[in-house]
Amino acid sequence: MSGAAPANDLPLLSATGVQVHFPIKRGVLIDRTVGHVKAVDGVDLEVRQGETLGVVGESGCGKSTLGRALLRLVEPTAGRVEFDGTDVTALDRSGLRRLRPRMQMIFQDPMASLDPRQSVGAALAEPIRAHGLAEGRAGRERRVRELLDAVGLPASAAGRFPHEFSGGQRQRVGIARALALSPDLVIADEPVSALDVSVQAQVVNLLVDLQRELGLTYVVIAHDLAVVRHMSDRVAVMYLGGVVEQGPSEEICREPLHPYTKALLSAVPVADPDVETVRERIILRGDLPSPADPPAGCRFHTRCPFARPDVCATERPVLREVTPGRTVACHFTETINGGESTK
Ligand code: SF4
Repeated sequence: MSGAAPANDLPLLSATGVQVHFPIKRGVLIDRTVGHVKAVDGVDLEVRQGETLGVVGESGCGKSTLGRALLRLVEPTAGRVEFDGTDVTALDRSGLRRLRPRMQMIFQDPMASLDPRQSVGAALAEPIRAHGLAEGRAGRERRVRELLDAVGLPASAAGRFPHEFSGGQRQRVGIARALALSPDLVIADEPVSALDVSVQAQVVNLLVDLQRELGLTYVVIAHDLAVVRHMSDRVAVMYLGGVVEQGPSEEICREPLHPYTKALLSAVPVADPDVETVRERIILRGDLPSPADPPAGCRFHTRCPFARPDVCATERPVLREVTPGRTVACHFTETINGGESTK
């Protein structure tokens, strides 16, 4: 769970109807658009100040593209992203540059965002210098030492190069770089999935501690519900470009309502061996369909054990509130979970 209590109920970040469609080009002499990959296809979400929203789903569900679209690292095709009252989607380059320090990203592979020929100290000092956030060289060096200390690395790390660090230490450098501009919001894309299991918990704990100390707001993107559930106040479950269930993390993990969330959760091992041997696993049939040609109706109907072809293959369910703060996109939520059907 997040370490910082939400400062207020106003969302710091909100997304409304966000789409990211990538054109599929064909042709030798003239590029023709022959279709679109609908990586993100109409996502609504809100993140309140000081809280952590976990975004979870299989590889290819669009969660990383969504994270980048929220920061406008990729351009949304449609929809609106608002950050602290500013319409991010309407900003020009200079407006985006002014806002950028407040919204930062942690990547799965910190090596991808670090120049192998640049020392860690130089990599951390660069954004501080570019945004004029410290007085002179001495001020930048002091800030670099503070950042290294905040992520549990010694001051001597400033003189070393990325390849000299372990995976866990490199991710600490990636976190320090994201914090260099004192952001309010950090979007962490699979922050621990490239790390050894033994190191994952240390990095998760570091992120939680930093949130508490610095009052950060997080969006944590992961394919592994086990990572997200311990860090998040609320969880949004994504399937094929859309959110299928959203609500408080603890409630979703205790009683998932959407069939896809049930399947995801059933894949998470349980520590108690007695429970682990008897618990029911839901094995999804088939692969994730292509986002270039998503199924009609409910996008999950080709794999859903509860699908009714007459309804599910033709009508796309919308997210609707089933209990306060809990939304599910399924025509048969109540039937599946022991209540009345909405159909
Ligand atoms: Fe399954 Fe139908 Fe619900 Fe989709 S709408 S999740 S296919 S039961």
